[in-house]
Amino acid sequence: MGLRLHNTYTRSLEPFVPLDPSGRTVLFYSCGPTVYSYAHIGNFRSFLLADLLARTLRHRGFDVRQVMNITDVGHMTEDHLADATGEDKLSKAARELGRDPFQVARHFESMFAIDARAIRLAIYEGAAAGDPTLHPRATRYLPEMLEAIQRLLDHGYAYVDNQGQAYFEIARFAEYGQLSGKVIDELEPGARVEVRDEKRDPHDFALWKVDPQHLMQWDPHAPDGWEPEDWARLERLVPGGVDRRLARGFPGWHIECSAMARACLGPVIDLHSGGEDNIFPHHECEIAQSYGAYGTVVPAPEGERRSFSRVWVHGRHLLVNGRKMSKRDGTFFTVRDLLDPGAHRPDLIAPLEALGFAGGRVPAPVLRWALLSTHYRLPLNFSFDLLVSARAAVQRLQSRYDRLRELEDEDRGAGAGAVSDAVAAALDRGRARFDDALDDDLDIAAALAALLDLVGELNVLSLGPADAAAARAFLEELDGVVAVLDRSRRAGLLERERMTRWRDPGFRTAQAQALAGWRELVDRAPLVAALERGELPSADELAAVADLDEAVLELAVAAREHARASRDFARADQLRDLLRTRQVTVDDTPQGVRWRLP
Ligand SMILES: [Zn+2]
Repeated sequence: MGLRLHNTYTRSLEPFVPLDPSGRTVLFYSCGPTVYSYAHIGNFRSFLLADLLARTLRHRGFDVRQVMNITDVGHMTEDHLADATGEDKLSKAARELGRDPFQVARHFESMFAIDARAIRLAIYEGAAAGDPTLHPRATRYLPEMLEAIQRLLDHGYAYVDNQGQAYFEIARFAEYGQLSGKVIDELEPGARVEVRDEKRDPHDFALWKVDPQHLMQWDPHAPDGWEPEDWARLERLVPGGVDRRLARGFPGWHIECSAMARACLGPVIDLHSGGEDNIFPHHECEIAQSYGAYGTVVPAPEGERRSFSRVWVHGRHLLVNGRKMSKRDGTFFTVRDLLDPGAHRPDLIAPLEALGFAGGRVPAPVLRWALLSTHYRLPLNFSFDLLVSARAAVQRLQSRYDRLRELEDEDRGAGAGAVSDAVAAALDRGRARFDDALDDDLDIAAALAALLDLVGELNVLSLGPADAAAARAFLEELDGVVAVLDRSRRAGLLERERMTRWRDPGFRTAQAQALAGWRELVDRAPLVAALERGELPSADELAAVADLDEAVLELAVAAREHARASRDFARADQLRDLLRTRQVTVDDTPQGVRWRLP
């Protein structure tokens, strides 16, 4: 049985078949963050659905090209209406912060990248992280948007009002409403029809908006204020120039995704995902625009379908303690509020500490498991209890993984031997259950249960070195989808030579560069600052770090060695106590310092 997904467009479960004739490549667009503030856990539930889809497809042998855009203009506050009203979310944030909206967007975009890396969205890891064509910013695709708008005008799907704004005329697209199942006459009308407004139908939605107050504006007819590269591209894409009636303004949110999906993936794609609130109006409007501008269709059993994506996948919303997330109730959580509440939500430290989260910090793999573990078509009810059970699950998996690594190490040199029948059978059963669950419309809850059951089986089997190696490799393969394991070593050796180099202030400064990413983490920033000064961090600075990983541990051991060498015994004792309270075992050997994490 291959992968089957629930297609919102047909409201049915369908076998997933890519458009690529060789059946290998999958083109996938997922709506990304609007970068006007920190992303909250409800946003991340949608991004994790996209991540689960991409990782599952890769696990099943597909080559996936996933694009997730950055919305940095045009997303209005009242976005449940097709022709959204209110204020641009970025303009509003910029006004409130007293900053330039482009600066605000860049700031929250980089904050988002840090959160996304922590939660391990694959699109923010490795080479994908630095590829701008996988993370298109709306403000850099104005030429493609204006090209689409011009085509919509040329093809008679759009019109310009007397303010120089362009609207999509929904009466021209009979399939409008197909994705969401909405009946147009029952819809709440869009932006209020004002005297000056020439909207033909209140349900028509804006492609190009004009508002002199808006902080981000582009003149479609002159290069002033444009990135030169973008203006040159506009001249190439619309050689005859954009319709003269269009005034200086900014794009509507929906046209952005139509333009970016086409620019970064091509005219038709296999998959498009988002949250359920994107179905209408956002994705309904994307379909209408892409068809109107480019006539994009995908093959379907009924012949062809007027949609640029074959499959549309939508995740349900997230509740906290059974209710809508609310700032007033204190149940509005950003990802960083939970990973490191010290910075913005000190009120969360005590309740989370009471549940055993050191310093109130929820480890990122625990938060990832919690947000991932409910089937995407069911509402996710988030609570601190959910975090506690997620932590238990992640710890079970992690400790089995660490133990397998130890078994492999202990038996190294004893000869590999063969995998026992009992272990081979357990792994086969585990794989079948895990894969079947994901094939069944991404039934992640069943897949995770299969994984934990396998861990339970491995815990009672007696494992030889070959068994341990096979089981470890197997857990790593499944973790390609689940992505919660810490694969760094739990034990190792810091060689004498390396210890000596830490005594050199120049070496420390150079290491600060390598660890620059830590500056964004409240508990690790002081470590980088110390290294930049050419110093080693103090015992207090090291004690403030939540997770002693290999890199922090090296610093702690180096600081202790240096304190001893410079006869600063008080400091050496402090560092020894720190390692002891964190249950790190340290042994001095002729080769260097051997360490073991709990
Ligand atoms: Zn979108």
